Amino acid sequence: MSNKVRVRFAPSPTGGLHLGGVRTVLYNYLFARHHGGDFVLRIEDTDQNRYVEGAEEYIYKCLEWCGLEPDESPLKGGPHAPYRQSERKHLYYQYAQQLIDSGHAYYAFDTPGDLERMRQEFKTDSHTNPQYDHMTRMQMKNSLSLAPEEVIELLNNGTPYVIRIKMPLGEKVKFTDMIRGEMEFDTSLVDDKVLLKADGMPTYHLAVVVDDYLMKITHAFRGEEWLPSAPVHLLLWKYLGWEASMPQWAHLPLILKPDGHGKLSKRDGERLGFPVFAMNWMDPRTGDKTEGFREKGFLPEAFVNLLAMLGWNAGTEQEIFSLQELVEKFSIDRVHKGGAKFDYEKAKWYNHQYIQRLSDEQLATLAEPYVEAHGGSDNREMLVKVAGLIKERLTLVGDFWEQGHFFFQTPEMDASQIKDKWNDTKKAFFEAWATEISGMSTWEHTALEQSFNAQMEKHGLKKGDVLLPLRIMLVGGKYGPGVFMIAEVIGKEETVKRIHNAIAAL
Ligand code: GLU
Repeated sequence: MSNKVRVRFAPSPTGGLHLGGVRTVLYNYLFARHHGGDFVLRIEDTDQNRYVEGAEEYIYKCLEWCGLEPDESPLKGGPHAPYRQSERKHLYYQYAQQLIDSGHAYYAFDTPGDLERMRQEFKTDSHTNPQYDHMTRMQMKNSLSLAPEEVIELLNNGTPYVIRIKMPLGEKVKFTDMIRGEMEFDTSLVDDKVLLKADGMPTYHLAVVVDDYLMKITHAFRGEEWLPSAPVHLLLWKYLGWEASMPQWAHLPLILKPDGHGKLSKRDGERLGFPVFAMNWMDPRTGDKTEGFREKGFLPEAFVNLLAMLGWNAGTEQEIFSLQELVEKFSIDRVHKGGAKFDYEKAKWYNHQYIQRLSDEQLATLAEPYVEAHGGSDNREMLVKVAGLIKERLTLVGDFWEQGHFFFQTPEMDASQIKDKWNDTKKAFFEAWATEISGMSTWEHTALEQSFNAQMEKHGLKKGDVLLPLRIMLVGGKYGPGVFMIAEVIGKEETVKRIHNAIAAL
């Protein structure tokens, strides 16, 4: 490749970022870094009706959290600023005009009522969804159907208009998609898309072509849902005389529902109990909250790794990749054509793997907010110790409290779990042991275990008789790491207190 590789992620700020969107960011990023190119973030906010407050900031935060920072963006600036399309409004009109002058676009003055009438009037049994196209355009109110004087008059008296592309009849438009190979479209089937709206803003179709050209984009990755628009974009590149600079296209496969039927949606996540957005999102218009992978307790490294594997593999059995390794190994020819099924259990598996790689200190730092949220102590030393003890039991950082709450708070003890097999010998044993350990000078798990075993023998008991009751006394349930380690961490006073409380309750 002679030109420097330049790619772009071009989101519309319309809401939270779906994991498919983050995967698009990731593939852009990996491709750019792999080829020593630039990664541009362009905000496509030309549709003012769909603009949602806070959505743009959310995108920046997501990219930051994932560690996928762009080289050029509205925040960072760059040689092709501005990077927000609403601030580039003045740039687009001249290109729409150029298309009108060359006969590839036209003014259309139709009102919403006119469009509705057309849809009703041209509807037949075999043609249920008439569009604004070669079949209908001459019956509509536009600069192709009206006399030139009439058009001038309408323009002069300020009649609102849009500019539409004039799709040619019966042409074949072809291109080679980097993932799908040869693609061919029949232009007769595509409608005359609006390029410039009545408010003077371009639509996506015009803006994406103009900006990809002006920003010298060499490769464009976008979701498969844009494939049907590709012929419009290809023709625009051609009609504007920029064909030689057209980026190579790659339409990324969809991320599918776990059962493989259809695109994974926010609603699937709600239904099946897993996040679909990268981070928590609250829609300011409805107040609806959607949970994010971040808040659910996913580590960004795990999230990035699992997204990379949704549609790509290295051609080996390897599943765990650092971002740097992904940059080295990523290649677009290993991106699959077919949709990738989302598997939440697998996603959690990745997270578990990454949690195991954290140091106890790192895990403690991440877990702190969860512990604080439950009113647990913020003793750092204790947090680090607990992190080391329960790490292997964690799938999500948020599991920290569930797996470790008894270190921070006296747990509720359900006496019925011990009661059945409780007897005077056991009571005498626990009382004696509690007294013994109250006087211990070194509070440490091996010494505790030794004294426990010795006391056990004295009372003629076996491990099977007293170890589980001890666990239930200290933890409140039948789980957790080594029970003498738990005693060591919660300390003498608390251990003795929990044993006495339990005896009293039995
Ligand atoms: N603004 C479009 C979207 O949000 C971008 C598509 C593209 O990357 O060209 O889907």
